[in-house]
Amino acid sequence: MDVVKLGEYQFKEYLSAADIARRVASLGAEINKDYTSEEPPIVIALLNGAFIFAADLCRQFDFECQLQLLRVSSYEGMESTGKVKIDHAAEPDMTDRHVIIVEDIVDTGNTLAAYLPTLKSKGAKSVRVCSLLLKPDAIKHDLDLAYIGFEIPNEFVIGYGLDYNGRGRNLASIYSIVNAD
Ligand code: 5GP
Repeated sequence: MDVVKLGEYQFKEYLSAADIARRVASLGAEINKDYTSEEPPIVIALLNGAFIFAADLCRQFDFECQLQLLRVSSYEGMESTGKVKIDHAAEPDMTDRHVIIVEDIVDTGNTLAAYLPTLKSKGAKSVRVCSLLLKPDAIKHDLDLAYIGFEIPNEFVIGYGLDYNGRGRNLASIYSIVNAD
């Protein structure tokens, strides 16, 4: 299927499931060079969007890791609200631990610009970010992004965990919007 319709919008396939699987495997190989089971990292996947990416990515790791899902939200419909809500109560103890933050997409960068500074006081040994997607033309913050899957144009995308108002997360490919106003 290379076109899907959600409500009044049409989306066309932009990255196939096979493209994504290949890139996730190579990201996993890159990350495997940086971590060991002697110092097992905590992987924090930002919900909701990163749940599928995180599930696939962490199964590429050949080191031991602890996976934590953390609810963070800033988007309504197709817009970033700029107000980032973080469920700090669900955060694990990061004292003296390496931490990998897994994101589905970095768009404005508002989410990471709000979240990353809060980690400074948590005693982590290191913090690196892995995002499947990055929109270089939308980003508004100077962020250190260690691992990026794909740089994409500044267009709204769905699938592989990414939604439009709660729909489309289960699509195996990533689709970009065709008829945005
Ligand atoms: P940022 O804070 O970098 O602007 O955006 C972060 C979050 O906004 C992402 O984790 C994702 O949930 C949502 N987001 C940003 N761009 C898109 C997009 O193109 N499609 C969808 N479905 N969500 C997006």
